[in-house]
Amino acid sequence: MARYTGAVCKLCRREGQKLFLKGERCYSDKCAFAHRGYAPGQHGQARKKLSEYGLQLREKQKTRRYYGVLEGQFAHYFEMAERKPGLTGENLLVILESRLDNVVYRLGFASSRAEARQLVVHGHFTVNGKRVDVPSFLVKEGDVVAICEKSRTSDKVKAVLEANASRPTPLWLELNRESFEGKVARMPAREDIDLEVEELLIVEYYSK
Ligand code: SF4
Repeated sequence: MARYTGAVCKLCRREGQKLFLKGERCYSDKCAFAHRGYAPGQHGQARKKLSEYGLQLREKQKTRRYYGVLEGQFAHYFEMAERKPGLTGENLLVILESRLDNVVYRLGFASSRAEARQLVVHGHFTVNGKRVDVPSFLVKEGDVVAICEKSRTSDKVKAVLEANASRPTPLWLELNRESFEGKVARMPAREDIDLEVEELLIVEYYSK
């Protein structure tokens, strides 16, 4: 299945909440959801009562879209989460949060996860000193994610760092702006993940 290339603001409107897919615009009054906080399409404003399955599907889609993950990979993450000890739903969110593109975004090295993905693919980052160009790479506790030496002076990277300088860093990451790097101080806990989602509904979706 190909990556979604349509208007991403429609995804927020479809899911009924801001998914922060467009970087700075999401924090400005240009946000489409702030103006039209209802589903797109002719019947978008009609009140629809979702079935149990519909609710489960929406939570799964919302989470998948928030992290920009394709269907197959998301299902794969769910299987990984099931094999880990603890609550499957929480495990799933921790795995998603550990993706390198998400960590790059969370550290303020990109304005959105989509931009983070692109910067990673273009080889702008290292993990523990080694270049990694795979956005789905999963970081672990103690890993150090850094902007490549050569990229630190690039105009694009400089602009991104400036634009995101005021975005708070999550507690599980330690950012060192001077050395252009961030450390995974610990793995995130559920309360560190700010996505409004009922992960239990995702578990129910895959348990059918
Ligand atoms: Fe969603 Fe951002 Fe578009 Fe607002 S601007 S609707 S948060 S993608």
